[in-house]
Amino acid sequence: MTIPGIYTTPVARYLERAGLSAMRPKAALVDMDGTLYDSMVNHTAAWHRLISGTGIPCTREEFYLYEGRTGAATIDALFVRGLGRHATDREKEELYRLKTLYFQELPPVDVMAGAPAVMDAFRTFGLRRVLVTGSGQNSLIDRLDADYPGIFSPEMRITSRSVSRGKPDPEPYLKAMELAGVTPSESIVLENAPLGVEAGRRSGAFTIAVTTGPVPAGEMWDAGADIVFPSMPDLAANITLLLTTILQTKL
Ligand code: MG
Repeated sequence: MTIPGIYTTPVARYLERAGLSAMRPKAALVDMDGTLYDSMVNHTAAWHRLISGTGIPCTREEFYLYEGRTGAATIDALFVRGLGRHATDREKEELYRLKTLYFQELPPVDVMAGAPAVMDAFRTFGLRRVLVTGSGQNSLIDRLDADYPGIFSPEMRITSRSVSRGKPDPEPYLKAMELAGVTPSESIVLENAPLGVEAGRRSGAFTIAVTTGPVPAGEMWDAGADIVFPSMPDLAANITLLLTTILQTKL
C-alpha cells in the first residue's frame, strides 16, 4: 500500500536546502552501471582480476565503493595505496584497456529490472533524459539504443571521455545540466552508488538513490541522498507518486 504524502517530507527538505518555494523538474540525469544495467557483479569481478594481477592486495567488495569514479581514478588510487606512487598515464590507459577486455569476457549483463519503467515515467513527465556515467565501456553504452529506445539521444550523454574530474566531483552532473539546458534545481539525479550520490548532491540536484547491490541504504543517506529506494522495481512502483509530489510540494 502506498501512503499519500509519504514523499512530501524529503521533497520539502530539498526545497529548504535549495532555498526554493517549489521545484519545476525539467531533466533526469541518470547513472548507467548498477542503475540502468545490472552490471556491477561483472565490473567488480573484472576489477578484482585486474588489480590482483598487478600484485596490489584488494578485495572484490571494495570495488562497489569505488563505483562512479573513472577507471583512471580508480587505478591511480590503488597505485597510491598499494605501491606508494601515482600511476602513469600509460599505465592507466593500458590497465583500463585490460579491465575492459576482462569485462567483455564475462557473460552479458541484464537490463536492471524496473529501470525501463522509471525511464518511461521520466519521459511521460516531460523530463529531458541525460546519461551520466563514469564508464568508457562501449559494450554497454552501445546497447542503450536497443535496451532503452528513444530515452537517451546520442548528444545527451556524459561519459568518462566528457569530463576531467569524475564522480564524486559534481562536474559530470553539472556538464549534464549544461547539455540539457537546465539549472541544478530543475534536475533530478538517479544513482546507485555513494560516490555518484555525492556528485549528485554536490551538483545541487534532487538526488534519488536506489540500492541495487551490497552497499547498504545508510551509505546512500550519508552520501547526501534526498531519498533512498530499496530496489529499482520499488522505485518503478512509486516513481509517479514521487514525481507528482515533487511537482505539487510548495513551501
Ligand atoms: Mg552506478
